[in-house]
Amino acid sequence: MSLQQPISDTMRQVTADQALFDQHAEQSRKTEDKALAALFRISGALQTSLDIHIVIQAFYDGLLDMFGSSSLEYSHKESKINLVHGILGRHRCNYQLTLHGKTLGEITISRRKRFTKAEIVLLENLLCTLVNPLNNALLYQEALAAALRDPLTNLNNRRAMEATLSREVELAKRCRSTLSLITLDIDHFKKINDNYGHLTGDQVIVEVANALQSAVRSCDIVFRYGGEEFVVILSNTDTHGAHLLAERVRKTIADQLIPHEDGDINISASLGVASFEQLDDGKSLFAKADAALYQAKRTGRNRTEVYASDLESTETAAVNKPSAAKLTKTKVSRSKRISKTELAEATAH
Ligand code: GH3
Ligand code: MG
Ligand code: MG
Repeated sequence: MSLQQPISDTMRQVTADQALFDQHAEQSRKTEDKALAALFRISGALQTSLDIHIVIQAFYDGLLDMFGSSSLEYSHKESKINLVHGILGRHRCNYQLTLHGKTLGEITISRRKRFTKAEIVLLENLLCTLVNPLNNALLYQEALAAALRDPLTNLNNRRAMEATLSREVELAKRCRSTLSLITLDIDHFKKINDNYGHLTGDQVIVEVANALQSAVRSCDIVFRYGGEEFVVILSNTDTHGAHLLAERVRKTIADQLIPHEDGDINISASLGVASFEQLDDGKSLFAKADAALYQAKRTGRNRTEVYASDLESTETAAVNKPSAAKLTKTKVSRSKRISKTELAEATAH
């Protein structure tokens, strides 16, 4: 008996342990099934889009499924992407994502509760499903950005300008805010190419792009419209403000000497200014600024002209700013000469 008792106890113990083991096995099978299902779900969702925002959102939805309330921060410096979902928790797992040596950015997952070892393994498996879709989304993002960028100056190109202008015009209409446009064309640029060669011509284009870029506020957007022509979109800026900026740019360019082995090169540019009116769309606003630019060309180059119908507001602004009044008044008389035919001519150009 005495012998049996411990045996029976041990047996009971074994039986109890077996049940616990079965329970754990069942539980971990359930967790594994859940994890597997989540993996399938996430990898499926990740394949549905090339948009990096949607890819990261799909991954975050998967994280919520698996780990409950958690946060995700993803950043990719080169593409200036920084996406945050959820509220940062105390416990964090941070990963540098790479694929074949290429950096895909940094991701931080956090939550209030500590991650178990098993959860970290699961998280790393989930991250493996993210890497390829993320790489595709980044490549797509790069291609989109390249299609909108001018490779010589690194400015936005004409395509980007048209899209941005339509958006800004809609915004100005809805918010009844001011919006102005500056068009700029380098004077006698063909001569620079002819006298100094195309490489120097390119260098001049880059210098003008830099001058423009450093003159504007961070919220203004500079575009290379084509050849030696540039556009600046100035949101929340009236004609007076745009005119002041255009003149500052014109003077900077005229004062600039571009070094060359045959002697420094002097350049100048002509500029047109126009402001948004309620009936304008992107095309008509651009046509007005372009007409003003052509007026500046016709009347001698190295000058800024303001589109005629914008002059009323400029004159009003000039009353409050005596230093600008004289300059603006001279532009008034010249700009008034822009006729409808000239506007059509400039639009057709
Ligand atoms: P205007 O004062 O009337 O503007 O005369 P312009 O000579 O500046 O204007 P025109 O339109 O006659 O000449 C522009 C020249 O710009 C012609 C074209 O070959 C040159 N061009 C266009 N794109 C580029 C470029 O990317 N690099 C260089 N170097 N030249 C370019
Ligand atoms: Mg031109
Ligand atoms: Mg030119």
